[in-house]
Amino acid sequence: MRTPILAANWKMNLNRREAKNLVEDLLKVAFPVQQREVVLCPSFHLLTEVGGLIEGKANYGLGAQNVYWKESGAFTGELSPAMLRDCGCSHVIIGHSERRAYFHESDKDCFQKVEAALQNNLVPILCVGESLEQREAGKTKDVVLGQLQGALKGQSLSSGDKLVVAYEPIWAIGTGKTDTPEGAESTIAVLRQELGNLFGERIAQQVRLLYGGSVNAANVDALMAQPNIDGALVGGASLKADSFARIVNYQTQASLAN
Ligand code: PEP
Repeated sequence: MRTPILAANWKMNLNRREAKNLVEDLLKVAFPVQQREVVLCPSFHLLTEVGGLIEGKANYGLGAQNVYWKESGAFTGELSPAMLRDCGCSHVIIGHSERRAYFHESDKDCFQKVEAALQNNLVPILCVGESLEQREAGKTKDVVLGQLQGALKGQSLSSGDKLVVAYEPIWAIGTGKTDTPEGAESTIAVLRQELGNLFGERIAQQVRLLYGGSVNAANVDALMAQPNIDGALVGGASLKADSFARIVNYQTQASLAN
């Protein structure tokens, strides 16, 4: 059984006071959590503060939104994996489509970041996803498989729980448009199959595969009901305690039946 992950990508939002209020409000309604993990990914300046607020809170983890692959040196403006660990991070988002689009991150960059994260005991949350144009041209699966292979082929992975992959169609990010649960499931199932080719079936069955793209309180239950969807990477709806708490407390089919 894979433990679901609900990850919050706050992007470049919130000051220290707002972040503190958000985490405190969230913990009131979404803690304790059982059989699921919550990963908060604030911007760099909030990492230690947010880390302090969730310290000792079981099943809560801290993630960064980016990392550089070098250990140290003259790389102005960058943070190393060891620095992220020093801030209390357990996870790091790699290859988000905004980084690929605005900061020209390539699959090779993603490979180096994933490698550095794994070597430093940080769980990479590798993002893949197609543009609207690519989707309309019927290229979704080719695009996401290319991104997955580019970042992962040749990595050494001892166990699948050390890796998270998020399928985030670009046209669904921040737009209010979501892939259908069946559509997301079908792409994610293809990604899992490819993880099997790259790392073997045992590891592929352990990797958590998330869906991201306008996940909200109203659509999370249906997405999470899909067999290969192991969680969500959430942007906009993670900035409000009530909506993210509802996502964390998503209803399973079993609980809906009761
Ligand atoms: C994201 O930034 O990863 C994301 C999925 O954003 P949103 O939930 O706002 O679409």
